[in-house]
Amino acid sequence: MAGSTAPIIFILEPFGGSIRRHNAALPSLFWDDAGVTRGDGVFETFLVRQGRACNAQRHAERFAASAQRMGLPAPDVNYWLKATEEAVSAWVEERGEEAEGTCVWTYTHGRASTGFPSAWLTITEIKPEQLRQRREGVSVLTLPRGFTPTEESAQWMLTGAKTLNYAAAMAALRHARAQGCDDVIFTQGTGEDARVLEGATSTVVLVKKNGKIRTPLSGGEVLRGTTQEALFDAAQAAGWRCKAKDLTVADLYEAGSVWLVSSVRIAARVTHLNGKKLPAPDNEQEVRALIESAVTSA
Ligand code: PLP
Repeated sequence: MAGSTAPIIFILEPFGGSIRRHNAALPSLFWDDAGVTRGDGVFETFLVRQGRACNAQRHAERFAASAQRMGLPAPDVNYWLKATEEAVSAWVEERGEEAEGTCVWTYTHGRASTGFPSAWLTITEIKPEQLRQRREGVSVLTLPRGFTPTEESAQWMLTGAKTLNYAAAMAALRHARAQGCDDVIFTQGTGEDARVLEGATSTVVLVKKNGKIRTPLSGGEVLRGTTQEALFDAAQAAGWRCKAKDLTVADLYEAGSVWLVSSVRIAARVTHLNGKKLPAPDNEQEVRALIESAVTSA
């Protein structure tokens, strides 16, 4: 199989058991899978680098928490991690140790006709656009998210779970692209006083001019980010002062640098915010290296 460019697909048994390599040229889901018809499932996206899935423990923990929030049977994360190791070995065998990839775990409520969950994982190539944004940064539009969970609605809403339902995030990205931007930061409210939530598929991290690192509090409307968590652990150990707290759009304009961090793109610096240029800080390379090493050593 050396030289193969087909994605790696493994079908898992939701209650544990055999792991089966699936031929990428063949379909694997039924027409009535709740993941497809309702977006009713959860997923995790990992970076594969140097023959390993990075930050795996944090991803596995968030996966289990999302599944619980979605009413899915508790996944055996050790079984998923073992399947991931097998898939990464196959990836390295077929592409070589240097090939970076995107590994995705998907777990859905399964077929409407059986109610038996579906579970699979894939490793694919990283999209060239993501690699470009990693290198060159992103121009970003702030957009109000349009809903705010109250204490009562938060009890049933799936805030905080990484669900398959990304239709609103994809629509926001299309809207941003139509206006010549690469990405979106969701806010609560409008204008400079608006509260910063998160990127469409990333966590907002801000490095202040005095060297402090800030991110919006997670929970509620903000998904807990595994990249941000790894960064804060590594940065704190290296002497940076890190804190999660409420941030406004005005804070973004005033920061030394603003970053969108996520597992595969890792760190994309925000170069333009609502059309305004955010100049590169002197410590850009230092911050980038800190984020990269935090993720890849976790
Ligand atoms: N917030 C949202 C809404 C996301 O979709 C993602 C990642 O996909 C993140 C934050 C960043 O999470 P992570 O760093 O675990 O990739």
